[in-house]
Amino acid sequence: MTRSFADRHIGPDRDELARILDVVGVGSLDELATAALPASILDGSGLEVLPPAATEHEVLTELAELAHSNTVATSMIGLGYYDTLTPPVLVRSLLENPAWYTAYTPYQPEISQGRLEALLNFQTMVSDLTGMEVANSSMLDEATAAAEAMTLLRRAGKSKSARLLIDDDLFPQTKTVLSTRAEPLGIEIVSADLSGGELPEGEFFGVLVQVPGASGRIVDWRPVIEAAHERGALVAVGADLLALTLITPPGEQGADVCFGTTQRFGVPMGFGGPHAGYLSVHTKHARQLPGRLVGVSVDADGNKAYRLALQTREQHIRREKATSNICTAQVLLAIVAAMYASYHGADGLLAIARRVHARAAAIAVGLDGVVVHENFFDTLLVRVPGGAESVVAKAKSSGINLRLVDADHVGIACDEATTEAHVTAVLESFSTGLPSGVSDPGGVPSVTGGSIETRTSEFLTHPAFTSHHTETAMLRYLRRLSDKDIALDRSMIPLGSCTMKLNATAEMEAITWPGFARVHPYAPVEDAPGLLRVITDLEGWLSAITGYDQVSLQPNAGSQGEYAGLLAIRRYHLDRGDTHRDTCLIPSSAHGTNAASATMVGLRVEVVKCRENGDVDLDDLRAKIADHADRLACIMITYPSTHGVYEHEVAELCALVHDAGGQVYVDGANLNALVGLARPGRFGGDVSHLNLHKTFCIPHGGGGPGVGPVAVRSHLAPYLPGDPLEQGSHAVSAAKYGSASILPITWAYIRMMGADGLRKATLTAIASANYIARRLNEHFPVLYTGENSMVAHECILDLREISKRTGVTVDDVAKRLADYGFHAPTMSFPVAGTLMVEPTESENLAELDEFILAMTAIRAEIDQVAAGVWPVEDNPLRGAPHTAACLVGEWDHPYSREVAVYPQGLDPARGKVWPAVRRIDGAYGDRNLVCSCPPLDAY
Ligand SMILES: *Cc1c(COP(=O)(O)O)cnc(C)c1O
Repeated sequence: MTRSFADRHIGPDRDELARILDVVGVGSLDELATAALPASILDGSGLEVLPPAATEHEVLTELAELAHSNTVATSMIGLGYYDTLTPPVLVRSLLENPAWYTAYTPYQPEISQGRLEALLNFQTMVSDLTGMEVANSSMLDEATAAAEAMTLLRRAGKSKSARLLIDDDLFPQTKTVLSTRAEPLGIEIVSADLSGGELPEGEFFGVLVQVPGASGRIVDWRPVIEAAHERGALVAVGADLLALTLITPPGEQGADVCFGTTQRFGVPMGFGGPHAGYLSVHTKHARQLPGRLVGVSVDADGNKAYRLALQTREQHIRREKATSNICTAQVLLAIVAAMYASYHGADGLLAIARRVHARAAAIAVGLDGVVVHENFFDTLLVRVPGGAESVVAKAKSSGINLRLVDADHVGIACDEATTEAHVTAVLESFSTGLPSGVSDPGGVPSVTGGSIETRTSEFLTHPAFTSHHTETAMLRYLRRLSDKDIALDRSMIPLGSCTMKLNATAEMEAITWPGFARVHPYAPVEDAPGLLRVITDLEGWLSAITGYDQVSLQPNAGSQGEYAGLLAIRRYHLDRGDTHRDTCLIPSSAHGTNAASATMVGLRVEVVKCRENGDVDLDDLRAKIADHADRLACIMITYPSTHGVYEHEVAELCALVHDAGGQVYVDGANLNALVGLARPGRFGGDVSHLNLHKTFCIPHGGGGPGVGPVAVRSHLAPYLPGDPLEQGSHAVSAAKYGSASILPITWAYIRMMGADGLRKATLTAIASANYIARRLNEHFPVLYTGENSMVAHECILDLREISKRTGVTVDDVAKRLADYGFHAPTMSFPVAGTLMVEPTESENLAELDEFILAMTAIRAEIDQVAAGVWPVEDNPLRGAPHTAACLVGEWDHPYSREVAVYPQGLDPARGKVWPAVRRIDGAYGDRNLVCSCPPLDAY
C-alpha cells in the first residue's frame, strides 16, 4: 500500500483505530464527532479552499521553488538584524536535531538537565557580556525586550512619574513596539536626542538608550545614566552583544537593565525571526525579571542540579499580577546563540568583532568626510545630499542591500559575513553619489574611526566557553547534553494544553535553506516573493480553518497573540466611543497568560466561576455581566475548555456577552480539538489566537520558538498589528511577519495533510484521548467529561483523593514516570493535584498502551504504599527519579534496586532512560539564587 503523509503523521493505522474506537464505544470517526461535539457547533465547512494533499516530495519541491524565488542579497541594512555564519556543527547537531527541537519547556527538570545547562550558559553569556549579574533565558525579540525593560523600570523604580524618556536613536521598530505597549498602561513616551548627556525637564520613571544606536553611533551613556539616577529614574540600555566584546558594558557604567537580541550569534535573520531577545539586570532586580529564569539548586542526593527559578513571578501563578505575560520564549535559538559563544570562545568573538569593525572602518576611510558619526562599531550613517536613493539602487545592482534612511542618508551595517569584496562594492556604489569636494573614495584616510576598545573586564572565562572550541568537542557536548533529556524522539510527551505532536522532517527541512533563512526582515519586498507567498497562503488557510476573516502572523507566541487580540478589542471599543469598557471576564480555569495579557492592555480582570462539572457557570456569568454592565469589554474563554471538555452552552455564552455589548475572545490553544470540525469564528468568537507551535507542528524547541497568529472577524480587522517600521502602527513585534522563517513548517503541514487529513488528525486525537480516559479511569478517575461521557482531545486524571488517602502526590507520579521513560503529563493545571493527558493523533496504539501500562503499574505501586508495604516517605514513587549513580554503594530502602530502575511494566526493550539527577529541591534554589554557571570548584 502507498502511504500518504497523513498516514505517516497519524499514529494509529486502520486496525489500531478500530480497536481504539471499540474501547471508546463508537463505530467510526464520524460517529465520534457527533458523540463528542455539540451539534450546534459541528461544522465541517471552510476547508474546501485548501489545496488537495501533496506528498512530502512534492511539497519539498514546491518549497524549494518558493525559496529560490527569494533574493538572498548581501544584507547590510542592519537595524538589529545581521547576517551570521552558523557553525555547521550547530546546524546539524542542534538546530536540525530532533533531540533538541522536539523537547518541551523544562518544567520537569530531572529529565531536562541538558537544555537547562545550555540555557544557563545563555544566561551566563548575556550577563558576562552586558556586565550584569542576572539574565533570563530569553525574550521574544529585541523590541519586546525593550518593552519588558520599560515595564520593569516602572515596577522596580521609586518614581511616581508615568513618563519614559527615550533616545531618538533607538531602532525605529523598538520605538513602535514601545509605544504600542506604553499607551494602554498610561505611559507617556518622550523622545529626545540624549547624546549630549542632558535630560529634558521634568520627572521620568525611566530612560531607554541604545548602543550602538540605529545610526551606528556609539555614545558613552555614563553622563545620562548619572543624570537619570539623580532625577530618580532607572536606566535601560539596548546593547549589541558583539559590540560589547570591545566596548565597556552598560552594567559597568551604572545601567540598571540591559536588553537586546542575540540574533547575530549564529541565528539566521529568517526574514524577521525567530531569534532570542535578552534582558539582564543587577542582582537586586532579579525578582523583577519577566519570563523564564534558570537557576542552580540541589537534588535529593545533594548534587548540583538545574531547574527553573522563581516561578512564582510568572503568569502561571501570579496571573493578572504577573511581571509579564511571556510564556513560550525562544529557547532553541537561545541555545544556538549560547553554543555559538561556546564554540568561538571569548577570543573567537573578539576576533569576529574586530574584523566586523575593521570592515566598517575600511568603508569609513573610503567615505571620509561624509560619515556622520566618528564613533561606530559596525554601522555607518553616510550623508549624500539628494543621492541616497541612487546609492542604494547602485548597491542593489551589485547584490547588496543598504539602508535607505532618507533622501540624504544611507545606512551601512557590516557583519560577520562582510568581505573585502563587499567593502569595495559598497564604496563603488557611492562613487557617483558623493557630493563634489569630498575626497576620492579610496584616497588618503583621515577618518580611522578611532579605537573603540574601551572594555577592560574579562568575559566568558567559564569552562562552558573554553572547553568546546573543536568540532569533536562541540559534537560530543551537544550529544552529552541532549542525552540527559526526554524529547519526542524518545517517547510520547502527553502534555495537556501543549499538543506535543509530530514535527515531521519534511516540515522542518526548509527552515535552514538560505532562501528562507538569510533574508533581512526589512529587505525590499521584491526580494521575498516566495516568503510572501507562504505568508499569504497561510493567512488564507488559517482564516478558512478558524472561520475568521483576517489573520496576522506577527505575534511571536501565544501570549503575544492574546495581547494583539485584546488590543484590537480595546481599540475597537475606544473608536466607537465606548471608553468605559475596561472589564475582561475570565473563567477561573483559564491559562495564566489570559489574565496577564488582559492586564497589559489595561483591562480589569473579573473571574467567572466554573460549575462542579467544570463548565463556565452561566449563572455567575449573568451576574458578572449585570454587575459590570456597561463596563464589559470582553470575555476570554478557551475552547474546548482547559478542562478538556466541549462545553455545550458555548453559543449561549457568546450571545450573553454580545448582547451586553462585549466581545468574545476564544483562546485557540486547543484548536487541535477543532480543526475540520468546528470554527471559533463561526460559533461566536470575535477574535482568537492560535498556537502554531501546538496545533500546527512547529516544534516546541525546549520552550520556544512559537508563532501565535491572531485571527479576527472583519470588524476587528482594522485593529490588527501593523508594520513595525511605521510609528504608531500598533505593531507587537519587531518584524512585520514575526517569526517568518518557521512558517514553512505549518505551510508544509497543511499542504501535506489536506482537508481530509486535518479532519482525521483531529478526530484521531479525540479518539486517543477518550481511549486513555476510558482505560485509565478505573486507576485514576477522569475529572471532567462532557456529553456521552466524552472528553475532547485531553483528559484530566484526578489524583486528589488518592493523594489524600495514601500521601502519594502528583509530583511523585510525575517523577516516577521518568523512571518508566516517560515525560510527565501537565501537572496541576488547570486543577491542582491532577495530571492532564493529551496524547495527540501522532502516537500509535503501542505507545498509548505503553503509557497506560506505566500508569497502571504506578497505580499498583501506590496501592503498595496504601497497604503499608512501603512507608510514604520511602518508596519507589517518593524516591523517583532514580539515577544510575544512586544504585551504587549503600542501599537502605525498603524496595530493591531493580524496582527502582526496572519497575514492573517497563519493557526493557524500549531502552532505559536514565535521569541525570534525582528529585530537585526547587525551594533551596530560590532561597540561594544562582542564575549563571557556577564556578569550577562547585563541581
Ligand atoms: C500555551 C497556551 C497559551 C500561551 O501560549 P504561549 O505560546 O506559551 O505564549 C495560552 N493559552 C493556553 C490555553 C495555552 O495552552
